[in-house]
Amino acid sequence: MFKSIVVAIDGSDCAKNALDVACDIAQTNGAKLVVVHAPQAETSAFIVGGPMGYHEVLTAPSHIELEETGNKIVAEAAAIAKEKGCDVTTDMHIGDPVRQVLKTAKDNNADLIVMGRRGLGSVASLFLGSTSQKVQHHANCACLTVV
Ligand code: ATP
Ligand code: MG
Repeated sequence: MFKSIVVAIDGSDCAKNALDVACDIAQTNGAKLVVVHAPQAETSAFIVGGPMGYHEVLTAPSHIELEETGNKIVAEAAAIAKEKGCDVTTDMHIGDPVRQVLKTAKDNNADLIVMGRRGLGSVASLFLGSTSQKVQHHANCACLTVV
């Protein structure tokens, strides 16, 4: 039934579950799988080493740091999907995650987007995160949220 599946990941446990579910559905349907991640400066904090020794600084990561972390996250996810026997590719671009997930879905003619219900956000009372919510609102294909 599904031919092209996009799974959106942000490094959270929910997103890991979404990846597992997306792999299962891809295999049952013989679909291709695209892993998408949009690293964001706002959600990252880095430990920076100073000249007088190491100290903790809460600072915005550089473009290169974001890209390195982003590449690592999609590579790890792709390795998991490959190990499960999936036909998987990755898409990683710095920027608004909603826009990026929707673009990846459009570019790949996706018929299903799989996401976690929540992500790395810290507002415990939220039932559905804002990325999930907005993607579902604008998507032109089926969406599945995974707990
Ligand atoms: P909020 O971001 O609104 O504070 P949250 O982080 O708990 O809340 P979402 O951001 O909506 O919730 O995360 C839900 C799912 O959306 C994640 O499990 C993941 O599948 C996807 N997602 C979130 N952020 C990104 C991102 N930067 N790149 C790709 N997918 C993402
Ligand atoms: Mg989030």
